[in-house]
Amino acid sequence: MPELPLEFEVFCAKCGAGLCNNCTEGRTPRRNVPYIRIEPCEKCLEKAREEGYTKGYDDGREDEIKGREGG
Ligand SMILES: [Zn+2]
Repeated sequence: MPELPLEFEVFCAKCGAGLCNNCTEGRTPRRNVPYIRIEPCEKCLEKAREEGYTKGYDDGREDEIKGREGG
């Protein structure tokens, strides 16, 4: 089967970081169809982790304050 060479860039839709280095290309074992695997954007993952941490901290603080007011 003839193939067309295809070159393209991959960017994170959220922050715009280039994700070309996060891509792995290959072919599916059964149907031999080309595929591309893209790892999640490291920057956004890190940001989400930080936000999750901050939110958890704030929630904890709120509970603490409520607990004091109640008592
Ligand atoms: Zn991103």
